[in-house]
Amino acid sequence: MVYDVIIVGGGPAGVTAGVYAARKKMKCLLLAGTIGGSSSISATIENWIGEPSITGVGFGQRLEAHLRAQEGIDIRTDEAVTGIGRNDGTTFLVTTEKGETFETKSVIVASGVRHRHLGVPGEDLFQGKGVAYCSTCDAPFFRNKTVTVVGGGNCALEAVEDLLPYATKVTILTIDPEFTGDPVLRERVLGSEKVSAIRNAKSEEIVGERKVTALRYEDLSTGERREIPCDGVFVEIGMMPNFELARDLVERTRGGEIVVNPRTFETSCPGIFAAGDVTDQPYRQNNISAGQGAVASLSAYDFVRGAGAGDPTTVVSGD
Ligand SMILES: Cc1cc2nc3c(=O)[nH]c(=O)nc-3n(C[C@H](O)[C@H](O)[C@H](O)COP(=O)(O)OP(=O)(O)OC[C@H]3O[C@@H](n4cnc5c(N)ncnc54)[C@H](O)[C@@H]3O)c2cc1C
Repeated sequence: MVYDVIIVGGGPAGVTAGVYAARKKMKCLLLAGTIGGSSSISATIENWIGEPSITGVGFGQRLEAHLRAQEGIDIRTDEAVTGIGRNDGTTFLVTTEKGETFETKSVIVASGVRHRHLGVPGEDLFQGKGVAYCSTCDAPFFRNKTVTVVGGGNCALEAVEDLLPYATKVTILTIDPEFTGDPVLRERVLGSEKVSAIRNAKSEEIVGERKVTALRYEDLSTGERREIPCDGVFVEIGMMPNFELARDLVERTRGGEIVVNPRTFETSCPGIFAAGDVTDQPYRQNNISAGQGAVASLSAYDFVRGAGAGDPTTVVSGD
């Protein structure tokens, strides 16, 4: 069996692409770790259009219900894709960690992003024992504790804001000479009496015994080695795309994001499309990812029927 389209990912981009593919009666397979996407770990989502407030879990369930209501779409969860390669020039082969291979005429990559790691000793060892990556999820575990946040941009500053109602003291540390987040956020966070800010600091090791006890860093302005005693370290140094699948087939940015045509969401490889956070497009949000998934799916439909992605005659309203 040759699929018309294989969708990699079950977040808002992948699920929307799946719904649109099913409505175009494409032979479609959706492969994902889980359905729901990154924000399903959130306590509440308040900007998903049509739902003034919904829990992250509820959001994931609504996406899954909508996807499963479609006819003719194969859905496999808990099935990570490990490779996408060309077959014979007209189709692609998609392989999974379970050792299965599927053939398809087009692919939509909607595999999202993951947190960038520091890569210092102790980081892996103390994950879940003081080292954390999601302040929205984990801040409440640091009630009455001292925490160090590593990072200098908006994510790091927002993490400090999330921690302030719980932690007794928060240190924010950046490798750069200055914090780069939005000025208003910067002022609010760095102005708090509970917050200490350290600049020009290169994190070197997370130390502890059974749990984190300190972060060691090099002061780049003096070359001295210092230590911040703390119960937790939040690593907030950005996100990286979940895309090691077809490195040689598609053009990517230096940060690893897939470069797409913003009109059609085609990649540099004809037949491979991408949508959502994994792409080089700005504003990583649920509604935006969903919209991109819809465009990528319609473009894949045009591609498969030989019309060329973004064909102006493609009908979407009322179909
Ligand atoms: C804690 C948190 C809270 C957020 N809150 C909000 C909010 O309130 N409002 C908002 O608009 N946005 C929010 N966001 C951002 C939003 O979650 C993302 O913009 C959105 O989820 C991106 O959708 P996506 O479909 O591109 O990727 P994701 O939602 O990240 O989905 C990626 C999918 O790909 C799958 N996948 C990954 N690798 C593979 C692989 N190799 N093989 C198969 N499947 C794979 C995953 O299992 C998952 O199904 C939040 C993000 C986080 C982390």
